[in-house]
Amino acid sequence: MSLMPGTDCLIIGYNDYPLEALAAKARPARGRSGDYAEIARNSYLVGGRRIDFCGLLNAEAKRVLGIDPAFNAFELPSLGAHYLANFLSGRGFSTEVINLFNNEKGRLDELLAAGPRAVAVTTTYYVTPEPVQEVVGYVRDRCPSAVVVLGGPFVFHLAEDLTPAELDIMFRRLGADVLVHDSQGEATLARVVAALRDGGDLSVIPNLVYRDGGRLVRTTRAVESNPLAENAVDWSRFPRDRVTPVTFVRTSRSCPFSCAFCSYPAMGGKYQVAAVEPVLRELRQLRDMGTQYVVFTDDTFNVPPTRFKALLRGMIADKLDLRWVSFFRCSHADAECFELMEQSGCMAAYLGIESGDEGVLKAMNKYATADQYRAGLRQLHDHGILSFGSFITGHPGETRASVSNTVDFIEETAPTFFNVQMFFLDPTAPINAQREAFGLTGAQYRWKHRTMGWEEASALTDYTLRAVTKSIQLPLYGFSIWSVPYLLTRGFSLADVVAFASAAQRVMLRGLGDEEGDYGPERAAIEQVLRGWDARRGGSREVLP
Ligand code: SF4
Repeated sequence: MSLMPGTDCLIIGYNDYPLEALAAKARPARGRSGDYAEIARNSYLVGGRRIDFCGLLNAEAKRVLGIDPAFNAFELPSLGAHYLANFLSGRGFSTEVINLFNNEKGRLDELLAAGPRAVAVTTTYYVTPEPVQEVVGYVRDRCPSAVVVLGGPFVFHLAEDLTPAELDIMFRRLGADVLVHDSQGEATLARVVAALRDGGDLSVIPNLVYRDGGRLVRTTRAVESNPLAENAVDWSRFPRDRVTPVTFVRTSRSCPFSCAFCSYPAMGGKYQVAAVEPVLRELRQLRDMGTQYVVFTDDTFNVPPTRFKALLRGMIADKLDLRWVSFFRCSHADAECFELMEQSGCMAAYLGIESGDEGVLKAMNKYATADQYRAGLRQLHDHGILSFGSFITGHPGETRASVSNTVDFIEETAPTFFNVQMFFLDPTAPINAQREAFGLTGAQYRWKHRTMGWEEASALTDYTLRAVTKSIQLPLYGFSIWSVPYLLTRGFSLADVVAFASAAQRVMLRGLGDEEGDYGPERAAIEQVLRGWDARRGGSREVLP
């Protein structure tokens, strides 16, 4: 894997773009759409700037301890970037990975100076073009000869949703050479890299958008279906330091459900699950390489339950001694599932509950009832497993009464952590087929239906955040399902994470009206957490965990 001049493909993972830059763009339009309010609910207003969860932790560490620990949960090895590198390496291409753009610019400069043929930029977590533009501009400045290829969900949505004229404008804005139009895209990327290396013709490769002179060319579509089992990441291909104590594992592709608000199953294609033995093999390898926490990234890890149970039994029989977190469907779990989860090391489950109201759950096509979630949360807590409940306000069918039911549900069931987002009208989600039935108009965070408009939903989302007292809000920015294990490996205790998140929630609430409040009490609570953390690590100014 060492860099030779002419490395076939350099893969660039996540760019943690400054939240304040996105907020500044959304702020002027706050009366016309819910974008800014959604950022405000998921960030902290400090020193006149919006910062995210890790940003608040870092800012407070600077204030209290005089050090910048530069915490960023995205420094964990990106599964997407390493999956692509694994896929290409397995087909004979030389590859390099930049995991987190922000933290690895020195190494990136060296790699670009050596002149890679292709630079592939992943777009998994982006909803705006700015982070992509920044990475592409950086690469262009340092290596004009490299062919920049963009792929991943953000690009897939552009290619699916935009008109030819809109796509042309966006293509110019992004500044790349080639877009991969496929929800998987790894086989297409391999063909592009082969064409660059061997002098092939892009026009015969399906699933591409590129410019030929002044013309934007779209090649034919041929939906990829890459078998999961054959392409599992072989972590031994990578330098040892790429396997950290927290590692991501994927055991399925797509989702077997079709929630009305979600376009993921349509994008991801047919639901595929890996067999139990290859997953256990991967887990054994990771454990032997130093992994302590596994983040299963599957959207519905416990479906089908028979495979889920077999996998957990295997983890127990193998004495893997790993702690793990995953997304979880309460509607597909019995008492044995929870028992096996505890025994196999599950520490947290992320539940897409969405609503505590039966009517709204039906309108969402969730195939789950509030009672199933009630029972599931009780079981998780009884087994010592942390829960994270995610909710939506304003879905078609929502009323003030149903929002009130959701607040009551959260208070009654008390998930350890929760988040509530305003309904986002995705133009490719199944709900669009029912626009007439719900009187639904608009798009994204600006919409209206028969029983609610985005303004009211936004106000009710704020109301929910203020009304919940028995669960701690965790924001969407700077925090993800893998953040708890990440912080544990950085020297925090679970009690620290809870205490910090609880103080951070109050900072968030004070900033909802966009007026910076007096954070005195919250800062005192955060200071206590940080001083405890600092004392445990010996108060060193030099070495951070
Ligand atoms: S919200 Fe989750 S369960 Fe529902 S369709 Fe999307 S990925 Fe599947």
